[in-house]
Amino acid sequence: MQLSETDQQLAATIQTSRYIAAASVLAVLWAVESVAPMFIGRSRRVTHGLANLALAAINAALAFGCAFGILFVTEYSRVHELGLLHRVDLPIWAKWVIALVVFDGWQYWWHRLNHRLPLLWRFHAVHHSDAEMDATSAVRFHTVEIAFSFAARMLVLPVLGMTIPQVLLYEAITLPIIMFHHSNIRMPGKLDRALRLFIVTPWMHWVHHSRWQPETDSNYSSGLSVWDRVFGSFRLREKPETIDLGLDEWNEKEWRGLWGMWRKPFGTLAKREADNETDHGDES
Ligand SMILES: [Zn+2]
Ligand SMILES: [Zn+2]
Repeated sequence: MQLSETDQQLAATIQTSRYIAAASVLAVLWAVESVAPMFIGRSRRVTHGLANLALAAINAALAFGCAFGILFVTEYSRVHELGLLHRVDLPIWAKWVIALVVFDGWQYWWHRLNHRLPLLWRFHAVHHSDAEMDATSAVRFHTVEIAFSFAARMLVLPVLGMTIPQVLLYEAITLPIIMFHHSNIRMPGKLDRALRLFIVTPWMHWVHHSRWQPETDSNYSSGLSVWDRVFGSFRLREKPETIDLGLDEWNEKEWRGLWGMWRKPFGTLAKREADNETDHGDES
């Protein structure tokens, strides 16, 4: 399977733009985190950031391999007109908008499933284990979680009828948003409130990274914030600076580095107490 010439050019342009956008946004957020952090007292930002970025580099190698599989299934769906968007008669722009929005909705449910199924949670816990969450946490995912995610996309993308340029554009738009909502920046509350009418903001996502499970199991959206409101998982804490980030099972120093993050899910199951409300303080 091979992309058409137009799609190849489009994909190449989006690819280049998304790398530039992601690197620029990360640099800006790192600078703002340095001067106006929400959570203070961080002493190992560089080591912490490098471990997260190293994990991302390993995942990028896997993603490169998986891209061929994604290319095959999406093109097969397009050529044989199997996917929903290939079958409906709509203007091109409408198909792009629907593809991006519906896929964002899929990401919401996939994330929710990662919290629900023990096998998925075991690896997703690596993302939540970050007690010093910042913009680099946006790419802190266990390689096995990325592999599961690709496997699921291999089914969803051809059924929806998304094309490779649409997938790349989705990634290009959401990665900066994901970096933004993981960042440790102190913003005016009003600005966060205005932004979260549309996209997921730091205030929303800090709650998702709380150790207290009712908060951990909330705010699953990736790009648009609407999904949490529609599906009843939207939650905020009045004073976000009081949120205790991370996971209890990951407190030991040995799990902070790249090797620790990578191997822990294969060892003792990253257990979650069925009801740990009493351990984690009161809801605000
Ligand atoms: Zn999560
Ligand atoms: Zn996160």
